[in-house]
Amino acid sequence: MKIQSIRGVKDIMPGETEKWQWVERKANIIFSRYGFNEIRPPIFEKTKLFTRGIGEATDIVEKEMYTFEDRSGEKVTLRPEGTASVVRAFIEHKMYASKALQKLYYIGPMFRYERPQAGRFRQFYQIGVEAMGSHNPAIDAEVMIMLMDFFHTLGLKGLKLQINSLGCCECRPAYREILKKAIHSQLSCLCKNCNQRYQRNPMRILDCKIKSCQDIAVNLPKTTDNLCHECDVHFKEVQSLLDTTKVLYDIDFMLVRGLDYYTHTAFEVTSSQLGAQNAICGGGRYNTLVEEFEGPATPCFGFALGLERLISIVPFSNPNDYEKKTDIYIIYLGANLKVKAFDLAHLLRAGSLSVEIDYDGGSIKSQMRKADKSASRYALIFGENEIKSGNYQLKDMNSGKQIIIPANSCVEEIFKLLNP
Ligand SMILES: [Zn+2]
Ligand SMILES: [Zn+2]
Repeated sequence: MKIQSIRGVKDIMPGETEKWQWVERKANIIFSRYGFNEIRPPIFEKTKLFTRGIGEATDIVEKEMYTFEDRSGEKVTLRPEGTASVVRAFIEHKMYASKALQKLYYIGPMFRYERPQAGRFRQFYQIGVEAMGSHNPAIDAEVMIMLMDFFHTLGLKGLKLQINSLGCCECRPAYREILKKAIHSQLSCLCKNCNQRYQRNPMRILDCKIKSCQDIAVNLPKTTDNLCHECDVHFKEVQSLLDTTKVLYDIDFMLVRGLDYYTHTAFEVTSSQLGAQNAICGGGRYNTLVEEFEGPATPCFGFALGLERLISIVPFSNPNDYEKKTDIYIIYLGANLKVKAFDLAHLLRAGSLSVEIDYDGGSIKSQMRKADKSASRYALIFGENEIKSGNYQLKDMNSGKQIIIPANSCVEEIFKLLNP
């Protein structure tokens, strides 16, 4: 019986991986420009990290985690998201001790047992950013600007940045009551889910995806009209900093984000290239999470985005950016020249050229065909005749032009020509 991959996971194959690497490289470049450093936490953690970090009563924790007992009987979970691990590492390594703002990002796989459907995988990849240790609204603005910078570098078009303020522990409870009062008389018109949300978390009614609920939600009191003074000042500064850099945004008071731990600024970026579920990235400020893990009070701002979704809308309009190219394809004729060819390949690679070679030989025709297929820039050809004459053939695979280069200085000649 053939063994196949697990349902809901997929291989990222050569041809595709080059695109992934390019996107990841761009993330590395742009994020480090803003002073962010990569952190690589493990992909599995103690289960309680996630039950506490994400919340017991969420779909992720209740239905979607890959949890198992290891050989010592410890309950461990494949990470369903990245923030909890980063917060754990932040506390474990006492990163707060330096008092400096810690700017971190991660790239890697996450695991959720979800119903397989188009574009959803049980192992999926995320890029996440966490700025830890500052409540300054400039951080909110800077991280969002960095994200838009990253997206533009990838060539994305039709993006929209939407922001909102969710208030804080001072003003949110009062806003919730105002909201509940406004909703009360319309409860029978709201969907079943929203009726449950009404008790547990009425703010979630604002982002219900059902049309009849949305029609009611648009007329409900706005968070931004019910902020305390501090939240109001914070949110206004975020906006004015975005204005300064001419990064466009809309205020969307129906944007509340799924997780309870968000406070103050929340945001989402949507793309016109995606369908109904058009969000490409979401994030915001979470000021209490580090304390919930028994670390010192540490205000944070962060986001996470799904790489599968992102890569599906990157235009990849310039193949030269990411496609692998072979510089030289070595074609040798006669088994006795194998060692010579082998050595040449090694010397050329040492000079940072990419070199391919077919050790199974074959006719010049069949080797030429392979050189063509590898999209090689040049083919270096030699057989008994070339060895005797002391001159190799170098063929430009694009123009078809063939030149002669002396065998004894062939490596230097090729370096001169290709300038690696
Ligand atoms: Zn407030
Ligand atoms: Zn609803």
